[in-house]
Amino acid sequence: MLALPQVAKSKVALPCSALDNMRLVLLGPPSAGKGTQASLLSQRFDILHLATGDILREAVAAGSSLGKKAKKFMDTGALVPDAIVIGLLEGKMKSTQSQTGFILDGFPRNVDQAKQLEEFTDLDLVLCIEVDPNRLVERATGRRSCKNCGAIYHVRYNPPKQLGICDKCGGPLFLRDDDNEEIVRKRLRTYEDQTKPVIQYYESIGKLKYVEGEGSIEDVQKKLLDAIVEQWPQLKDAAYGPMPVKKPVVSTPPKPSPQPSQQPRPQHGQGAPHGGGGRSHRGGRGRGRRGRYFGKPGSKGPNKP
Ligand code: AMP
Repeated sequence: MLALPQVAKSKVALPCSALDNMRLVLLGPPSAGKGTQASLLSQRFDILHLATGDILREAVAAGSSLGKKAKKFMDTGALVPDAIVIGLLEGKMKSTQSQTGFILDGFPRNVDQAKQLEEFTDLDLVLCIEVDPNRLVERATGRRSCKNCGAIYHVRYNPPKQLGICDKCGGPLFLRDDDNEEIVRKRLRTYEDQTKPVIQYYESIGKLKYVEGEGSIEDVQKKLLDAIVEQWPQLKDAAYGPMPVKKPVVSTPPKPSPQPSQQPRPQHGQGAPHGGGGRSHRGGRGRGRRGRYFGKPGSKGPNKP
């Protein structure tokens, strides 16, 4: 039996943002476009994208014992037991060096996960993408993902330039095992039964904003950004300005790691001030910025002075 989530008990820290702790959750039914949209938001605001579905698939691909256990559930469209998901999420958080804010994609997926999340962080905003259920099956069965970089396409709505090949990295595209019609329908039922109550809960405490998920990727992204700006007007420039470009990763010989006392202190609010022309996201990651950790409910979010 797996040890129960260490996350809540040990208050293992989630990374927090130099943009004043932007702590987001993105929810929505299977194939609503959470992965694509969360990835764009993470790039725009230089926050960490943590997708439990991706983390689970990584564990499955690695053949780890947790991955093997998880696969049995994923293949049937059920939720993976909390202990496995939270254990893997915790491992991912610990191994992540880039400490900025975060966007959780596909987590929490049931009320227990939401309660555990609440034990160690205070979310700022939960965004829920809504899509007509009748369209979700078509969206899922036409979805293709890149084996190398995880980029997501749709055979009809967002096809790659070359059939079966990723535009971004040239990797092979594949159909997820759980994106066949029968399993997608089961995942939709799981969403109705277990995730809808989580959404209702966030709505009841005033943290939820619904975003309509029909339209192009850009349309939906714009609606998500509108919801973020509605919450935090000071992020207007960062939200609507040009998408920050990631600095290319230059391969250099590893340097000895500095002693703890030599490590640069994280600088809260580093970059342009809110609403002050947008913060430079370039090199936000990969510049050795060591983040503060938190876990203190009540710490300030971007909407709080
Ligand atoms: P996704 O990629 O988010 O659609 O997730 C794919 C599958 O991974 C789901 O159908 C679940 O079996 C599993 N999964 C992802 N996130 C969670 C979670 N937070 N809790 C339990 N199972 C999850």
